Amino acid sequence: MAKIAFFNIPAHGHTNPTLGVVRELTGRGHSVSYYSYESFREKIEAAGARFTACDAYDAQLGLGPEDGARIARDTAFSIHVLVETTLALDGMVCRELERERPDCIVADSMAVWGKAAAMKLGIPFVSSTTTFAFNRESAKLMKQSVSRAISLLLSIPKMNRDVRRLEKLGYPIKSFLQLISNDRNTDTIVYTSPEFQPCCESFSAKYAFVGPCILPPENSYEKKAEKLVYISMGTVNNDMPEIYKNCIAAAADMDARVLISVGALADIGSLGRLPENVEIERWVDQTAVLKEADAFLSHCGMNSASESLYFGVPLLCCPQTPEQGAVAARICQLGAGMPLATTSPENIRNGLKLLMEGDRYRTNAEKIGESFHRCGGAMAAADKIESLIASLHNI
Ligand code: UDP
Repeated sequence: MAKIAFFNIPAHGHTNPTLGVVRELTGRGHSVSYYSYESFREKIEAAGARFTACDAYDAQLGLGPEDGARIARDTAFSIHVLVETTLALDGMVCRELERERPDCIVADSMAVWGKAAAMKLGIPFVSSTTTFAFNRESAKLMKQSVSRAISLLLSIPKMNRDVRRLEKLGYPIKSFLQLISNDRNTDTIVYTSPEFQPCCESFSAKYAFVGPCILPPENSYEKKAEKLVYISMGTVNNDMPEIYKNCIAAAADMDARVLISVGALADIGSLGRLPENVEIERWVDQTAVLKEADAFLSHCGMNSASESLYFGVPLLCCPQTPEQGAVAARICQLGAGMPLATTSPENIRNGLKLLMEGDRYRTNAEKIGESFHRCGGAMAAADKIESLIASLHNI
């Protein structure tokens, strides 16, 4: 039996894919501890891990749900938050890990305090990557605006200064790139198929493309019309009243039921009167909905995109960050969706109609879905972690 410590950030998209892996590892008799945040305790404990809450340690950072959007947009701010969080968690994390001495740390690519602790304490490390894997080749799909690229370039010295504050506490990390990216030698689990990952052949054998770990829907969703359109902008940056209003206007003329998941922050009252065929929820059982859906207007977060393709549902792509832009570009490249040029009601209506006409988009989405079904998922991820531990400890 091995001891494995997981680290994650408080985000559904980063946590969901790891739950099946935790379940698989604990099912194989390993002991899993999981460092995350209170609102994820229930899910994580249900998967069989021992949960440790990080909330109290970085509470002084005072981050609220609205900071999620800024973190996704502003790299210098996100590096600052990651460094501050690593510093705030240092005492607790290192004390616990010294006591526990796990055989391996599995940390989400954004939960850099897990990777930093592995480097500081000399513990074997696996990166859990819920987006595409990025290197020089695949990063070409991430389009930056010129102004964003310039501001990123200008903030490099500040980001590196920020990161070097970690050295005083014994973290051997010298640059922001070392903190947030993986090299060819980092054991990495990527939750997508080799077919969907752009430039898959350019990654080393250390990378395991295990496919999305999608948990079966907890309930079934009743389809109340022949066609069902699902709309969601994810869980992080989803307070977008203009887009929701335009979707409602687009839906008025559509021969389909339209379900919009708007998240916790949206002011539903301000969206106006709803046509009969529109339903608004703050949260839905998304996989249950996608199992029945005919088209999905999505921000193209990796999980939403994977869940959609898993069920063969084509996407109307409305990305908000460069990473989501890369997912959208790949979907469109493989013919499983189309870009939403502007968020006008006409464009939304025409895009959704086109996706639902004929089988072209659906067939391409199903092809990618089949590549996901062929992957090993949680079992392959657990195999990767076990084989790393076995190679180091001979268990
Ligand atoms: N999700 C859900 N119900 C909702 C909205 C989202 O279950 O009403 C889940 C969705 O299934 C996915 C995750 O939240 O697993 C969102 O992750 P994604 O990577 O798509 O986007 P993010 O929220 O990280 O931007």
